[in-house]
Amino acid sequence: MAETTLFLNALETAFPPDFITRERSELIEYGKDWTKNFAPDPLCVAFPRTTEDVSKLLRLCSEYGISVVPSGGRTGLAGGAVAAKKELVVSLKRMTHIGEVDAMARTLRVQAGAITEAIHHHCKPEGLTWPVDFASKGSSQVGGNIATNAGGVNVIRYGLTRQWVLGIQVVTANGDILELNGALEKNNTGIDLRQLFIGSEGTLGIITEATLKLAPLPGEEDVFLFAVPDLVPCSNSLSGPGPRRSPSKRSSFLPTTASRASRNTWAPGLRFPLPPPTTFCSKSNGRSRKVSPKNGSSRSWFPGS
Ligand SMILES: Cc1cc2nc3c(=O)[nH]c(=O)nc-3n(C[C@H](O)[C@H](O)[C@H](O)COP(=O)(O)OP(=O)(O)OC[C@H]3O[C@@H](n4cnc5c(N)ncnc54)[C@H](O)[C@@H]3O)c2cc1C
Repeated sequence: MAETTLFLNALETAFPPDFITRERSELIEYGKDWTKNFAPDPLCVAFPRTTEDVSKLLRLCSEYGISVVPSGGRTGLAGGAVAAKKELVVSLKRMTHIGEVDAMARTLRVQAGAITEAIHHHCKPEGLTWPVDFASKGSSQVGGNIATNAGGVNVIRYGLTRQWVLGIQVVTANGDILELNGALEKNNTGIDLRQLFIGSEGTLGIITEATLKLAPLPGEEDVFLFAVPDLVPCSNSLSGPGPRRSPSKRSSFLPTTASRASRNTWAPGLRFPLPPPTTFCSKSNGRSRKVSPKNGSSRSWFPGS
């Protein structure tokens, strides 16, 4: 019997019937991400519920030599979650548990399939947030965010995903379960393997749980739209003088051509209120009251500067 048939039989014996699907429409759906350049063609899709399921599954894949593609919210734009060569797709969509917020330690333990935006909603009543945020947050998963070391709209203020992950649980290709770094901020023991896994796009193992670090929710927010002659004043305003961090929470730089294109698509007929050539949009959290950008310089954002 061919190895893949033996593997599928072994899966049937080891797991309940709803654990895998070979339904054509689901193979197509779970075999691709947001990229459109590859035709999905996975062998099957598995839906584990626990870390132990993932461990048992990967042990079988290893035994039968089956390639594995971890799959989160499939919002990636680099083809990382595409399965086009008869791989087994491991979807984390059933591993969505979100634990209780530890408001004192400002931490949260979650399963890797938890949706990014669900975490924001979960932490909000405690006045806290996980500051990883972007347009795909309604579909992307924490595991995918960690695997891609995602940036997003808050990155200038808060940094990358790797700054907001205290510990992770991963399952390696041979089924071993590793706990990396625990939940302590001040942990300097040994080599930090957690950081090796963050951004490794599923190549080193499957992230099954994570302890996230939380930040206080920003208070009142102001939104600014500037017209500036080029990008230099924008980057000046974001870096700021001395060791102070930018008050800017979210920022985007929009050349006139791009803003015109997006207006034509989303708001046809609307006139852009600022002159060309470059526009700069920034959202700040109430600390940047003194705003009087002169001659395209935005140094004057910073209170007291
Ligand atoms: C509209 C839109 C806006 C976006 N904006 C941004 C942005 O501002 N900044 C940014 O960085 N990205 C952005 N992205 C890209 C994407 O949303 C992020 O990379 C996101 O973190 C991917 O998460 P996901 O759960 O969808 O992962 P997927 O696309 O499912 O997977 C991404 C990679 O991670 C691996 N993976 C997924 N889950 C796990 C796991 N549990 N363990 C191990 N490996 C895993 C996959 O195999 C794949 O290699 C955007 C995408 C869209 C569609």
